[in-house]
Amino acid sequence: MREPHVHRHYDESMLSVEEALERILGFFHPLEPEESPILEALGQVLAEDVVSPLDIPPLDNSAMDGYAVQASSTVGASRESPVLLRVVGSVAAGQLPQQEVTPGTAVRIMTGAPVPMGADAIVPFEDTDEVERRRSGRGLSEIAIHIEVPRGAEVRPAGQDVRKGEKVLSRGTVLRPAEIGVLASLGYGRVKVVRRPVVGILATGDELVEPGDEYGPGKIYNSNSYSLAAGVLRYGGVPRLLGIARDNLESMNARLGEGLKCDMLITSAGVSKGDYDMVKDVLAQHGRIDFWSVRMRPAKPLAFGVLRAPDGRSVPHLGLPGNPVSALVAFEQFGRAAILKMLGKTALAKPVIEAVLEEPIYNNDGRRVYARVVVTRRDGTYYARLTGNQSSNLLTSMARANGLAICPEDLPRKDAGEVVRVQMLDWPEEVF
Ligand code: AMP
Ligand code: MG
Repeated sequence: MREPHVHRHYDESMLSVEEALERILGFFHPLEPEESPILEALGQVLAEDVVSPLDIPPLDNSAMDGYAVQASSTVGASRESPVLLRVVGSVAAGQLPQQEVTPGTAVRIMTGAPVPMGADAIVPFEDTDEVERRRSGRGLSEIAIHIEVPRGAEVRPAGQDVRKGEKVLSRGTVLRPAEIGVLASLGYGRVKVVRRPVVGILATGDELVEPGDEYGPGKIYNSNSYSLAAGVLRYGGVPRLLGIARDNLESMNARLGEGLKCDMLITSAGVSKGDYDMVKDVLAQHGRIDFWSVRMRPAKPLAFGVLRAPDGRSVPHLGLPGNPVSALVAFEQFGRAAILKMLGKTALAKPVIEAVLEEPIYNNDGRRVYARVVVTRRDGTYYARLTGNQSSNLLTSMARANGLAICPEDLPRKDAGEVVRVQMLDWPEEVF
């Protein structure tokens, strides 16, 4: 049943990967901020400048276990002619000093403890006779100082790391473990970050069964939903699995409702020229959809549209090819960038290295080839070897790859020994 006049068209001209990406990204924007517990914000983007409410460290404190003294009390001290100081107290981390240090006196102090009033230097235990004194049972009411120390020795001044009122982290910063630690050190339990996008994932196909469900002749397990959901998670989104829509209008419509509640909908399959009719008919009822040919291999057919949710929001829809490798490669090029943009990130390109190709990549129809490769490093040089047969249905060849080597669209082949650019899918330890 063909309806020729709805909002859709099949773009006969091929788009470059960059053109497709630009068109797609035009429909995505950073999402609104949310407040999140700091640990859950790992990988999210700060939506506000973070200003310190306090000095860090909050007080002058000791960098060593030792004795807090006045530097002037140590003038001329050496192992041969020590200076004897009267010990008037002690202070541990977390305590506040009870005694003042005056000329000729010292307070025993532990690392991190606040420096007592009057003291301006710390003499480490090693530079006193503390050990001999304990051993000989003489007690610690006095201490012999073996070195002359300058003012400020081993004192960590208040505000050395951060000053009260200082901007410590800027809006737009991606939160890594160090930033999460900084937030905690400032006393923040929660932080304002750009919200994570919820990405609906819908598989389509009469042949599909869910892993764990009954398998039979003519059936294949739905792997795309899981590889794509894992990709969404990996790049910081929240995947929402919407199950399998069958190749009919009712089934597709029934599943789409949930998809319209998301920030983005990803479907797989049903976008190649032969069988896009069903998908386009359903999706065109909810908005617009374009079917593109992208000058890339794998994943030439791609659909992109914008659906209108019942609440009036626009929900961008990325229709990926059904073949498992094509779905993942297209997700890496387009879906990933869209998720990162919604997360408020500005570095959207995948990391690329240069490697020496160990076997040729053939390019027979002027598309950009993303070849599945294993990158290794030997003597400081990266090498890339194909993972075998490059058919787009062979998902295990994707599982063996740690990168996608690129043969440009205008080259009929990249020969062994040539340098190729490789988009890294991962940076496993053995590649460093
Ligand atoms: P299609 O785009 O519907 O022609 O699908 C292309 C190929 O991808 C077919 O061999 C499908 O069986 C396969 N395929 C489609 N959807 C999935 C899926 N969710 N998981 C694994 N393979 C799929
Ligand atoms: Mg199908």
